[in-house]
Amino acid sequence: MIVLALIAAAFMNGNWLAVVAHTQKYHHDGALSRPACRSFFDEFKSQCIWAMAVGYGVYFGFCGYLEWKYYVRGRGKELEWKCQPRRYLPGHLVWDQIKWGCTGLMVTNVVSAVVATHVVCGGYSRVYMSVCQYPFWWWILQWPVIFVQQDYATYWIHRTFHTKFLFKHFHSLHHRYFQPTPWSVTAIHPFEITLVQLSMVVPIFIYPVHWVPFYGLALYTYYHGIIQHSGINFKARRWQPWQPDSMFHDNHHQYCHVNFGFNCYMWDQIHGSARKPDCCYNERTDGWGSGRPLASLSENDLRLEIRERAAENPKAYRDNMNPYSLLDEFSTTVKTKTVE
Ligand SMILES: [Zn+2]
Ligand SMILES: [Zn+2]
Repeated sequence: MIVLALIAAAFMNGNWLAVVAHTQKYHHDGALSRPACRSFFDEFKSQCIWAMAVGYGVYFGFCGYLEWKYYVRGRGKELEWKCQPRRYLPGHLVWDQIKWGCTGLMVTNVVSAVVATHVVCGGYSRVYMSVCQYPFWWWILQWPVIFVQQDYATYWIHRTFHTKFLFKHFHSLHHRYFQPTPWSVTAIHPFEITLVQLSMVVPIFIYPVHWVPFYGLALYTYYHGIIQHSGINFKARRWQPWQPDSMFHDNHHQYCHVNFGFNCYMWDQIHGSARKPDCCYNERTDGWGSGRPLASLSENDLRLEIRERAAENPKAYRDNMNPYSLLDEFSTTVKTKTVE
């Protein structure tokens, strides 16, 4: 399934185009400096046609697979797999996210096609094809360098889109889905998804990037994009100590202004936007991720918060325990704080 997801994720975002583009460039002139190329428009057209055909085919294929495996066959067993087991997106929002998911997909495919065409036609980039072209230590080092740069940039883009103006006019579209599903991975406003996609290709313009680490990481990132939006309790593996479980981003959709990171939970910890057990978050709390202390809530708001947290599946957390649960505390600690 992971292999299928990786292929799907790469194709969905049109990055396969750039792989093809770089490979063509390599085969056409070896020296990587004077690639054979049709006119920019003809090249762009063919890149786009393939991107759309394969991209949409795989989008429906892979997301359809997860939908069928969990959301259809897993009905009645939600406690086993679903992050928010008693809640489903209303039908009209399911179709809404597919509509916007297809729109976002089109945008990412076009952006990738433009970049790929630029490279094929000999435009400036620092991508290299032969491992020997730069010292091998740099080939190793660029994996963490690209990963950290892309993930940190995405964290700040995302966090900035939670400020009042940008949230209201752009990012709120993605937050209609309080229970995200795989279809919502690209259901993002075209302006925002363009910025994200452009930020992902920045490394190829600023330092030497071998295509294997670049696309290997693109696959990793997009695979986790799907997983984090799946609404399914996927957990990070042992070899990924930096990677949050899918519940991390599910929390972001349920509570809105918190947990802005994607592939490293440490950005939120460093910058104080990680979810804290003694704070509550929702669309009305501070868009910068600081939340509201539970001790400042009215008794009624506290009850609502307890109910909200009870909707989370403990099985989506490590050791099958919800570290944010207030069910046991309500009659003791928290109530005491409220009275004070
Ligand atoms: Zn968000
Ligand atoms: Zn999301």
